Amino acid sequence: MDVCEQKTDVPGGKVVDSKELANLMDRLPERDLALFQGLSESQVERFFSYLFSVPKKSDGTPNLRSQAIGLYDPFCDRQSYPLGILWQSAPYSFCNHGCIYCYGRSYLHQFGGGATIKKGFRRAFDRSLAAMKALNLPPRHLSMANSTDVLQQKLEKENGHTIYMLERLSEYKNLFSSICILTKNPSILLDDAAYIRAIKDLGLEVQVSIAFWRDEMGKQLEPGAPLVSERRRAVERLVNEGVAVALRLDPLFPRGVEGCTEYQGLEEDLEPLVSWAAQTGVDYVVSSPLKLVFRRNIIPWFNQSVIKAFPEVRGGYRRMPDPLQRKLLRDVKNLCELHSLRMEHCFANILKRNPDFLLAKK
Ligand code: SF4
Repeated sequence: MDVCEQKTDVPGGKVVDSKELANLMDRLPERDLALFQGLSESQVERFFSYLFSVPKKSDGTPNLRSQAIGLYDPFCDRQSYPLGILWQSAPYSFCNHGCIYCYGRSYLHQFGGGATIKKGFRRAFDRSLAAMKALNLPPRHLSMANSTDVLQQKLEKENGHTIYMLERLSEYKNLFSSICILTKNPSILLDDAAYIRAIKDLGLEVQVSIAFWRDEMGKQLEPGAPLVSERRRAVERLVNEGVAVALRLDPLFPRGVEGCTEYQGLEEDLEPLVSWAAQTGVDYVVSSPLKLVFRRNIIPWFNQSVIKAFPEVRGGYRRMPDPLQRKLLRDVKNLCELHSLRMEHCFANILKRNPDFLLAKK
């Protein structure tokens, strides 16, 4: 039976009729409509039905982020970068790792300064899965998650929402083309065999963020996160367990700029990290240059110490000049080549997750 003819009682699992669809499309900004380019009419109907079945705004304005498994939106220009529909989901809002350079600081005020649990998350997550299945949505990548760490020690130990998600996802594998966890706390995955079991069952990739070799630099710039040496030990054990691990060697901090503190050294941090990653059996390296939070919730001592390297303001962030960004990335790429490791820019890592993009490239 065609999904469009399905009668379903699953909340959010009903396909919108053509009048509703036209109304929603009229109300959606041009930039959001770009997300649906290249999809068949039936796919557009089903994605619309899913995304807009849970109105968050009282006036009924379509909201792309009202589902517990919602749109993964890196806020790039959708016309230039055809990311299409990708998913993200997290049971916790914001993050307690306290990274001095965190982009999320610009909206930290929304969370009263610390990470919180999303109320009713498990029910909402189950509802999203059921609706996706009822609508027979095409498989898409799921990121867990951006702007938070789903493995934050205290929150996950107390609530176990992430292991709940992983175990539930095992029953809905067909809905996802790939799944990825991005974390600074990989060791929690070794505390309970259920994590490794679920991760392997899902074929999930764990991306572990380690930007320094030296613990003292990690402590200074990521004061609430586990030591970088602890993260490395956890990565070694995860690889031994047969888990696919990528090293997120990001962000890349400015080097060689007069008047700027160098927090990350080529010889002190990047070289030993890449060499260690290759020896450990890490699959590949993901990297990207730092951008600075602009205006709100900045850390003054840190901003002052690097501001000279960030003369450009674009899209709400201060950025390094392109030649400097390219040099920083080239240095990591050269190191990776030396050690026969693949390196991807973090944006390319997201872009490759869109199956339509891959098809278009063929
Ligand atoms: S781990 Fe990520 S989200 Fe958490 S504080 Fe650090 S940069 Fe921000």
